[in-house]
Amino acid sequence: MTPEAFRVAGRATVDWIADFLADIGDRPIVPPVAPGDVRASLPASPPLEGEPYTALLDDVDRLIAPAITQWQHPGFYGFFPANSSPPAVLGELLSAGLGANGMLWSTSPACTELETHVLDWLAEACGLPDRFRSDGPGGGVIQDTASSASLCAVVAARDRSGGAAVLPDLRVYTSAQAHSSIEKDVLVAGFARDQLRAVPVDDTYAMDAEALAALVATDVADGLVPCLVVATVGTTSSGAVDPVPRIAEVAAEVGAWVHVDAAWAGSATVCPEHRHLLDGLDRVDSYLFNPHKWLLTNFDCSAFYVADAAPLVSALSIVPEYLRNEASESGQVIDYRDWQIPLGRRFRALKLWFVMRSYGVEGLRAHIRAHVAAAGMLADRVAAHPGLVHAAPPSLGLVCFRHVDGDEASKRLLEAMNATGEAFLTHTLLSDRYVLRVAVGGTWTTAAHVERLADLLDELA
Ligand code: PLP
Repeated sequence: MTPEAFRVAGRATVDWIADFLADIGDRPIVPPVAPGDVRASLPASPPLEGEPYTALLDDVDRLIAPAITQWQHPGFYGFFPANSSPPAVLGELLSAGLGANGMLWSTSPACTELETHVLDWLAEACGLPDRFRSDGPGGGVIQDTASSASLCAVVAARDRSGGAAVLPDLRVYTSAQAHSSIEKDVLVAGFARDQLRAVPVDDTYAMDAEALAALVATDVADGLVPCLVVATVGTTSSGAVDPVPRIAEVAAEVGAWVHVDAAWAGSATVCPEHRHLLDGLDRVDSYLFNPHKWLLTNFDCSAFYVADAAPLVSALSIVPEYLRNEASESGQVIDYRDWQIPLGRRFRALKLWFVMRSYGVEGLRAHIRAHVAAAGMLADRVAAHPGLVHAAPPSLGLVCFRHVDGDEASKRLLEAMNATGEAFLTHTLLSDRYVLRVAVGGTWTTAAHVERLADLLDELA
């Protein structure tokens, strides 16, 4: 495809996306697709000769778009919504167009320096402690996912505590409500399953810090080494917030690394009224949140901050001859390949930069506030409904509830809600009971959509 042909095809593609977004609310959220349907609609073998671009875009229109779950639909309340926005999409397009790989500073200086700068902006916008800014020993990096960023924290903590030589003695602690990625990361980092302690939670599903202290004390008495505590700010099942200040205190007594996973809730801290979510962060080693969940930036974009990059770089840096270069050896540049698992890296900072400049911090705040207010209204409607009961305290944009008639009634309600085609909810288990989750946070979701959701609940519960 020549640059001229690209110009035409690119315009057609942007037009297609604009139409798709304009009509997104008219599409079914969950596609009527059975396993194998999509593959059956595609040719068995690749074309021998190149096809015209119009044929490709037609097939996206005909075969692909109708067979995706519409995460951008305003009625999507499942899991945590994956935000996207037109400026982010354009940043992504430019990233692909520039085609740079920012594995080293020298392989694309702007890729690295814009990332450092935008993550400092994000730290300022979110009120993060200065220790996470790039002008000290720490700073931020964009990873693909929270899962990968947490893996980096696990590996850095493991090696800071002595690494492979003492691995069998090391212990990791996280709450029973932590995201499953933490367990996966701990296993990937070479720990055995029983080296991960599941700390009990309190009535609000937040980590019981005194139970943590007791587990740590027992392990120390047994000659074991607590190496990492992972706290969650905004758990996946119910939005619970672990008591980070006390957790940091317990960890400090034994020199354990503290990592805070705020994958979803972290975006809310652009609003000063939600900065209590950052309590204790001035004493932790690493922190992450996902702008791709609630900050108008399309997947993938996970912001990972460390107070001191040295243990991370020491755990992850391997320098073969073919990557040696003057800039790296000068010690004056960041090579982000040493802050992540893969070598190569995309230019993700562009989309975050575009989002921050297009909306401004006030625009981002308005986005969060609209969702938190709408979720508050929904929480009131749930509380007033005789057939429903809150399953956990409402948290930011997340409302969790169940049917008073038990699990089967809750399941039937979820199915009935999703069958309307107007809303998509997912479920979880809290205290072994089936719970419906409504995560208000879609880019195109307004208070009116959430009112409609509450009306549907009135009709169906
Ligand atoms: N941590 C928490 C608290 C989450 O809610 C999620 C996903 O919902 C994750 C981690 C995993 O996120 P990612 O898909 O970016 O790995």
